[in-house]
Amino acid sequence: MGKQTKYIFITGGVVSGLGKGIAGSSIGAILKSSGKSVFMQKLDPYLNMDPGTMNPVEHGEVYVTADGGETDLDLGHYERFIDTNLSKTSSYSAGKIYWEVLNNERKGVYKGQTVQTIPHITEKIIEKIYDCSSNNEVDFVIVEIGGTIGDIESQPFIEAIRQIQNRLPEKDTLFVHVALLTYVNVTGEFKTKPIQHSVKEMLSHGIQPDILIARSDVNEVVPPNVIKKISNLCNLKPNQVIIGDNQSSIYDVPLALYKQNIHDVIADKLDVKLKPNLKAWIEASEKKHNATNEVKISIVGKYIALQDAYLSVSESLKIAGIWNNTKVKINWVNSRTLTETNIEKELKDSDGILVPGGFGINGVEGKILAAKYARINKIPYLGICLGMQVATIEFARNVLGYLDANSSEFNPESENQVIHLIEGNNKDQLGGTLRLGEYETTIIKGTLAEKIYGSKAVERHRHRYEFNNKYRDEFEKAGMKISGIYKKGDLVELIEITDHPFFLASQYHPEFTSRLSKPNPMFNGFIKAVISKK
Ligand code: GLN
Repeated sequence: MGKQTKYIFITGGVVSGLGKGIAGSSIGAILKSSGKSVFMQKLDPYLNMDPGTMNPVEHGEVYVTADGGETDLDLGHYERFIDTNLSKTSSYSAGKIYWEVLNNERKGVYKGQTVQTIPHITEKIIEKIYDCSSNNEVDFVIVEIGGTIGDIESQPFIEAIRQIQNRLPEKDTLFVHVALLTYVNVTGEFKTKPIQHSVKEMLSHGIQPDILIARSDVNEVVPPNVIKKISNLCNLKPNQVIIGDNQSSIYDVPLALYKQNIHDVIADKLDVKLKPNLKAWIEASEKKHNATNEVKISIVGKYIALQDAYLSVSESLKIAGIWNNTKVKINWVNSRTLTETNIEKELKDSDGILVPGGFGINGVEGKILAAKYARINKIPYLGICLGMQVATIEFARNVLGYLDANSSEFNPESENQVIHLIEGNNKDQLGGTLRLGEYETTIIKGTLAEKIYGSKAVERHRHRYEFNNKYRDEFEKAGMKISGIYKKGDLVELIEITDHPFFLASQYHPEFTSRLSKPNPMFNGFIKAVISKK
């Protein structure tokens, strides 16, 4: 008989934004470190089909999975923590669930039945959750339900997980509720009432949490009597109440949960043996706390009003910093307001400059200036997607002398479109209007890229425009080397400047493959260059 996948459901209580994603990822990391296979899924109650079209300043970054899913940023945490590639199956919004059900209704799948939230929507949700276990190949599936218990729109999801609990043996499901433990400053007391109400709300939906993570956002030690009170009033043993206090780094959260023996509670309820080995996490934590260096990296982007819009970029920098004993300080620079006049003031004490991805013309000229500043002043430069495109536009304008050089995305009239659309490629060979997901880059010998990656790189894309091959020779002759290509489509994936300490930019997004235990090679190389230049 094959094994049975165990399901761990994560819900949130009292307020949103408590770090359920980090709690779930940390549990995943603990299970993974016990030698178990783990898959994670995020179910979001909003009605957009996916975050692909949502404003990054409102929703944060769009995380891209290897199979080309445009997903919620929590998936980035999941992958960085559990070091496993997830997929489109890992992310469903209510919109996508309803879309499938309504399409089925139009196709006549329901054979004249009245189509309802229960059972049709709930069954679709259950089907998506079961899909994650790929026929019980996975030991654990961790499912995070977005939003807060009590939200109207999350109810079908809560009902679906209740039904799963009812269908499976008791030892196959576990519920973790992450809720805010409030603190009243005036009296200097922790208050458990909101948590009690939150657990009551869970009970009203037929779910008794097995683990309660009491998330405290103040730097006060939670006294034992508070744990006792939560345990007594929420129908939990004291060891089922875990304190989630602030950590100086999210990568310390698995250690904090482990120290409170969360794995024993999971092992008991799910009837499994767990022997976590968090060596890599302890090492990372020690390195982080003992970091001797500090570097300042300027991220020049246009969505800086919400730093979550560049979450994987900043986490990738931090992770590369950790393994190089270096604290990375980020200087956020708004590309929309960056000009010839203020650039010196904004960028002068940057140890490195990073231009991340972006869509649309706003703020592009500021990014072009940033690439020029890094090139001329020989400051290490890392360009990501649009960050590569602007580096080539800048080079064409200021080194090759094509003053009108541009991308056809920003100026379709320009005579020198160094970045352009390749209709045939994008539609026929690459399957869609955006080039999305994982592609293999062949690295050219004798380049900086080769030192960093070896002979190939497998990284993820999310863009529409490509480097114009017509200009390759001219660029190479003038000192901008093409150092990586996608062979099948003959597309430029990596460029670098030879006469420079470190100037490397990719058409793909290297930030999506960083893991706590394995910094992405481009970020690692960038941070190393920044340190040695400093
Ligand atoms: N807007 C550019 C393109 O579509 C770059 C996209 C990005 O940086 N992700 O090609």
